[in-house]
Amino acid sequence: MSLKRATGALVALSLLPMSVSADEAVNIYSYRQAFLLDPLLNAFTEETGIETNVVFAKKGLSERLEREGRNSPADLVMTVDISRLNELVEKDLTAAVDNETLDSNIPENLRHPEGKWFGLTTRGRMIFTSKERVEEGEITTYEELADDKWNDRICTRSGKHPYNIALFSSMIAHHGEEEAQEWLEGVKDNLARKPQGGDRDQIKAISEGVCDVAIGNSYYYGNMLEDDNQREAAEDVRMVFPNANGRGTHINISGVALTKNAPNRENAVKLMEFLSQPKAQQIYAEANKEYPANPDVEVKGMVAEWGELNPDSLSLQTIAENRDAAVKMVDRVDYDN
Ligand code: FE
Repeated sequence: MSLKRATGALVALSLLPMSVSADEAVNIYSYRQAFLLDPLLNAFTEETGIETNVVFAKKGLSERLEREGRNSPADLVMTVDISRLNELVEKDLTAAVDNETLDSNIPENLRHPEGKWFGLTTRGRMIFTSKERVEEGEITTYEELADDKWNDRICTRSGKHPYNIALFSSMIAHHGEEEAQEWLEGVKDNLARKPQGGDRDQIKAISEGVCDVAIGNSYYYGNMLEDDNQREAAEDVRMVFPNANGRGTHINISGVALTKNAPNRENAVKLMEFLSQPKAQQIYAEANKEYPANPDVEVKGMVAEWGELNPDSLSLQTIAENRDAAVKMVDRVDYDN
């Protein structure tokens, strides 16, 4: 039987018959929006003849997989952020994939040691500064965010947000817990206001004069520049690639994992391979102004114009392992209050 691609609504899940395995369609549970996945999946179907179905949700997919257990129709999970990928592993919901194509296309630090998840795109956690009130080159590292000179001048979203937790985890990995905590206390002391909003809101706050320095993911800046309502705010800030001349800029990933009970393992792995190859890498990265995980793929367009990203080579798995320590550190520092 043929299935229409089910996007957009969780309700669609109940419409997926169990017989999807019979026609060998690949079923994807996705935290990523349809507009990002559709071009990729269409290209995959065109090339292989294998159909795909997507169930999109904002949250709760791992709980859903747990609940469905062996009866789950899901073959793959596609999501952003290392913490969400790691959550799947910790709940034992993903299967190890030992695959030469994936291992050669995706750098070792961007995949799980046993292939339980693979990074597909990366994004830098950048520093944004006011073009008006901060000189070019005045701040070049995350470490400097704790410097007294930025007192009452920094804006960030909640310290508990996974993007910040991953950054703080990387600080723990590079400096040890004690030094990382001292640093975070310094950053907190420099906040212009209580942590709030999302990454875009921090860029807007610089534009409004609330603060001079902010932290945010690279693609938000890119997407704001393409949004008529947000371009002006984005144009008021400069994007700094932190630690570019040292260990590199902290990156996070979007990624894919094979589910433990995947009914169509074979085709699902074919799709994973496809996603790691240049054609798909290009489409996927460009759709959200991200960087391809595959280092052989050229960065194009606006993202290339920003200059070269020197990514921190720290393993995302190490970042995942430091997550709990980072959450506790944020609590001890009482960062959000
Ligand atoms: Fe985001």
